[in-house]
Parts: sequence; structure tokens; C-alpha cells
Amino acid sequence: MRHPITTDTRLAGTAARLYRRLFRPDDPHGWADYHCVEQPDGNFWIHTHGLGRWRLPDLEFTGVPHDMCSHAHQLMFAIIESCRDAGAAHADGDVEGVFSAPGQNFLQLATLRPAPRGDSEHWNTLRIVDWDQPAESGFAARLFASHIAAWAELAGDPIQKEVMCRRALVIFPGHFLEMTAGADIDPRDADLTDLQYRANLSIYLSLVEALFAQGRVTEAIGYLEEAIARCPGWAQAFRGWLVANYRRNDAFINFWHAADISEICARCRPAGMAGSPPEQKATGFGRKKRKPQRARRSA
Ligand SMILES: [Zn+2]
Repeated sequence: MRHPITTDTRLAGTAARLYRRLFRPDDPHGWADYHCVEQPDGNFWIHTHGLGRWRLPDLEFTGVPHDMCSHAHQLMFAIIESCRDAGAAHADGDVEGVFSAPGQNFLQLATLRPAPRGDSEHWNTLRIVDWDQPAESGFAARLFASHIAAWAELAGDPIQKEVMCRRALVIFPGHFLEMTAGADIDPRDADLTDLQYRANLSIYLSLVEALFAQGRVTEAIGYLEEAIARCPGWAQAFRGWLVANYRRNDAFINFWHAADISEICARCRPAGMAGSPPEQKATGFGRKKRKPQRARRSA
């Protein structure tokens, strides 16, 4: 798709890019041109020109809602730096890393697919989509929700935190996982990271925190039950760890001491998806040995 190039389209003009190139030579801002083009549906196509300088293909996001455009640029820069450090970006390969905030409590994953665009100006572009999804899946909802999750965790103001979490849950509310998912979670392991489930749980817990901070206890408990219902195995393991280690008298800990996970699942999971949560493992939360990292690159 050809598009006009105006000051609205370009993230930065030549002067700003060259200035950055001189003073921050490792910064991808300076070395590529970033175009942000409105699609017929009102969402945005955000893509690069010039990553060939770093022997990388150009990259794009598609279907980006207007309020996510600056997030898209942040994610794009982080993914470019990750590909540059790895020395490559392959069609149908995965990228994994910490793309949003330093110290975030989960890794992020995405897959690069050849973008189905035929025009001569955008022919060598890879589309960043959610992990393992086809190019046609478009907007990387899980990745963007995880990006907001990382920043929501750091937000100090509970009202701002609540707004961020609610936006993330609109973009990607998460799935109801199998009853056993997360039962043997090792906090250092990536098992729940693959589909950004850990980021999803992080959003629920940040929202719970924001609501507790505003004295909205009933709503907070509703979202805790929602998180438990979506990932009962994790909830069982987390509850065991909290009960064994924390006796503080506050609403969060008291909730977990009293929580009946089977009952919450029976009430909050979709019909036909309820079941018994797994027995808690004798080894306990967080004591599992780390498995060697699996190879992720598929091309
Ligand atoms: Zn362009």
C-alpha cells in the first residue's frame, strides 16, 4: 500500500533523526524512518523504513488503535534493539524479551510474519503479531496488553492504574485456561509466559491493588475471583504459598486464607469448564527445578 509522506505520517523529520544519530548512535530512533498511517478502518499501520542499515528487515504493526500508537513505537524500538542484538530477524521467527519496562515480572513474546504487501516501498517488511499467530491476525493484542500490564504495575496513582488495567483487559481479557494450568509454576520459569498469561494475571492483580487502594473492596474481590477462575492451577499454587508465608491481617491476605478455589471456579467459570483444581504439589510453589530453555526460533 502506497501512502503519502507528511509530517503527520513521520514520527520524526530528518533534522531530529540526524541529531539523534550523532548523539545516540545506538538508538533506533535515528537510524530508521517510522511511518504511522491511518487505515481505512481508523486504526493505524505503523512501520519502519531503513532497518537494512542494521541488516534487518523492516517491521510493522497493523490495526493499532489510536491510543496505542505511542505504545507501538516503544514496543517497536525495543523489538528492533532485541533483533539487532541477536544479529537477525527471520520471517516466521519469534522474538522474546523484556520489551516494556525494566524489572517487569514477565517476558514478552511475538512472532514475525512476512507482511502481505506488494508495493515496491514496503516489500521487505515483517509484521509483528502475537506469538504463533498468522500475519492475518493483525493487531498484536496480547503483546500490547502485556505492555500496558508492565507499566500499570509501576503506576503509583490508583486511579491511573485502574484506567490502564481496564484498557488492557479490553484489548485482551485473557482466556479461561485448563484447571491444571500453572499448578506447577516456577516463578523463574517461562511456562506461563508463552501466551502472555503471566502478564494477563499481572493486569488482574494490578487492578485489584488499584481498587483496594480506593476502598472498593467488593469490586477488588470480584477481579481476584476472575483471575482465579481463569487460571485455577496458578491460584491453587499461589494460595498455598501465601497461606504458608503470610499472616498479615489485610483484605488481600484474608481473602486468600478464606478462598475456596473449587467454589469460585464452579461459580465463575463458563458452563462446562468447571472442574476440580489440581492437588497442591508437595514440592510447593517456586521450588521446582528450572528446565533448560527451549529453543524458540522456528526459522
Ligand atoms: Zn512507509
